[in-house]
Amino acid sequence: KLASRDFQQKNTIIDVNGVKIGGDAVVVMAGPCSVESREQILETAHAVKAAGATVLRGGAFKPRTSPYSFQGLGEEGLKYLAEAREETGLPIITEVMGVEDLDLVCEYADILQIGARNMQNYPLLKAVGRTNKPVLLKRGLSATIEEWLLAAEYILSEGNYQVMLCERGIRTYEKMTRNTFDLNAIAVLKELTHLPVIADPSHGVGKWQYVTPVARGAVATGADGLIIEVHPDPAHAWSDGGQSLTPENFARLMDDVERITHAI
Ligand code: PEP
Ligand code: MN
Repeated sequence: KLASRDFQQKNTIIDVNGVKIGGDAVVVMAGPCSVESREQILETAHAVKAAGATVLRGGAFKPRTSPYSFQGLGEEGLKYLAEAREETGLPIITEVMGVEDLDLVCEYADILQIGARNMQNYPLLKAVGRTNKPVLLKRGLSATIEEWLLAAEYILSEGNYQVMLCERGIRTYEKMTRNTFDLNAIAVLKELTHLPVIADPSHGVGKWQYVTPVARGAVATGADGLIIEVHPDPAHAWSDGGQSLTPENFARLMDDVERITHAI
């Protein structure tokens, strides 16, 4: 298998406009769940950059559980993201939800995010496999590590080797947290695959106060990067406010990550 350590021993390093993912440094991607306005994404971009993030996240096409929830700003959101990249120099990661949006999203995104709900959307995986954009593949809501690696294989086998795997929590019987962040998966993947492994503790726990502790655990376990939801005013966020960090709390997370990286 193309993703396996048997096929390639040395870690894959993905270079996104000079940001190296999978190398020695832990790369932190941060930003709001959804792009809500020009002001909101610009303010957040400046704040996460000041704290040390090197990639800006923001959803323009949102896979919401309810069709009545905010669905994202679409292309308008992509334009604001591009403006934030221009102002800050941060490359941007944003979700592509369907093959029909792929060309449009590719015009703006530096990294394509495949959401948990689309991990087994094979036509989409094949289509991103034919682009030259790095892809962050989130783990499906109830996917085994094996199914997840095979989903990555769909992208790799089309010729796109710039794939990173993102643990974002799985469904379990536990209800105190939104999902159960699977720290085991990080250790297992670091053994099985050369692809970069990214941790998303925001969706992994679903409550802001647990995001930083779990982020620390993920980094200590060997994650190559983090993706963190940050919002200037979480209480009024249009999506995932309950799990979003304020810029101040995000800066503390960055300090912790820095100290853990030096310790391991
Ligand atoms: C997100 O990143 O905002 C998101 C919808 O993530 P997931 O696909 O992991 O639920
Ligand atoms: Mn979200």
